[in-house]
Amino acid sequence: MIKIKIIISLIGLTIGCQTFAQSEKEKIQQIEAQKQIDKQRKLTTKLDSAIRLSEEGEYEKADEKFKTVLKTIRSVPTDLTFHFGKNSYLLGKYKQSVDWLTKYIQLKGTSGQFSEQAIEWLNNAEGELIKEKEREAKQASEVLSTDFTIDCGPNGKVVCTVCKGSTVITRKNYFGQTYSTCGYCHKLGYLTCDEYNQLLKGNLKPQVNR
Ligand SMILES: [Zn+2]
Repeated sequence: MIKIKIIISLIGLTIGCQTFAQSEKEKIQQIEAQKQIDKQRKLTTKLDSAIRLSEEGEYEKADEKFKTVLKTIRSVPTDLTFHFGKNSYLLGKYKQSVDWLTKYIQLKGTSGQFSEQAIEWLNNAEGELIKEKEREAKQASEVLSTDFTIDCGPNGKVVCTVCKGSTVITRKNYFGQTYSTCGYCHKLGYLTCDEYNQLLKGNLKPQVNR
């Protein structure tokens, strides 16, 4: 009889411990859940203010805010991909814009709240990106004289392009004109071919005028 009593009380104790442990666990879970909710709320507030900044035309500030949101989250909310993509377009960051707007369309297809807008902004961004690439290609293919050494002819001299051969530099100011000696041609009015080529490339340093 005593044995049974002991067993029963032991069982009771175990159950009691378990319920206690359970309620502790629940409390911790609740605190965790509340933390999560607070975090989410803060994030939503930040995101909202970023969207507002973008709508007010403060694209740089909005961009900064979007980036701080992106830094603090582990998974990106779908709406953020749209808003960040649109703001990137308005900032002229077309590659970034294409990237994020594409994400939105991948996630939401054509039925999302912002799908129609996303497709429109994406088309614009892609258009601008193509233009940008064309401009870059054009620049890369341009041949400029500074890439070459110029042959100055048999006498190997060129009239100083800074003072136009006068050896004097004239500067206008409020009081009239000031005159100083040209620092490039050593009071000669001409440059050697080597100096001329250096000047074209921006490498010829003037002598300090006294
Ligand atoms: Zn000169």
